[in-house]
Amino acid sequence: MNDEFDYIRYNFEKINERITAAVLKAGRNREDVKLIAVSKTIDAKIVKKALECGVTDLGENRVQELCDKADIIDMKCNWHLIGHLQTNKVKYIIDKVTMIHSLDSMELAAEIQKRAEKAAKQIKVLVQVNIAAEDTKFGIKPEEALGFIKNIANMGNIKVKGLMTIAPLAENPEDVRWVFASLRKLLIDISKENIDNIDMDYLSMGMTNDFEVAIEEGSSMVRIGTAIFGKRY
Ligand SMILES: *Cc1c(COP(=O)(O)O)cnc(C)c1O
Repeated sequence: MNDEFDYIRYNFEKINERITAAVLKAGRNREDVKLIAVSKTIDAKIVKKALECGVTDLGENRVQELCDKADIIDMKCNWHLIGHLQTNKVKYIIDKVTMIHSLDSMELAAEIQKRAEKAAKQIKVLVQVNIAAEDTKFGIKPEEALGFIKNIANMGNIKVKGLMTIAPLAENPEDVRWVFASLRKLLIDISKENIDNIDMDYLSMGMTNDFEVAIEEGSSMVRIGTAIFGKRY
């Protein structure tokens, strides 16, 4: 059963061991942290191999790529849109995605609502928060997140399920621990408001370089590309 993609199985097993270790260290349950394998730029053949190895959830950051791959791969899995979403592209993914992690504006919310209503669906979304206030990153300002969420609570075809952030690139993941801790605090503060139609169930945070720290700080979805598929070129 040896083939040229066996490194995927090895990487997947390794990453699962590391997730489990971080979960145990944090005194949490393994089933509370979902692995999203980020397959951007990776060939569909290799992504299929990951699904055969036990990956259940895939993350893409571009609409076109997600749609193309979803067509080619045609295996049972959940697709997550994790990158910035332009309003004019919502229509292409509304039938394909399990969750949109990158809701970052009212215009986008309105478009998702419109398209989801048309498709008679309710779309699960996470609100992306720019915790570290980086100019290069999308996301709602932390101090505006509560108001933003209150404003979309009445959109019946959108189901807010939690928050997402991307930490700044750091050589030492300890340097961005505060980012994950802040997102978690924000999630708790918002959930205390008990807003109708708003669930604060998920924290999508942590990537290859920082997922262990993110899990210690309460992450429930880690988005991991490089550690599974190798370096992207
Ligand atoms: C690319 C990407 C990831 C995965 O990054 P790795 O460092 O390869 O694990 C996670 N989240 C988002 C939003 C991404 O664009």
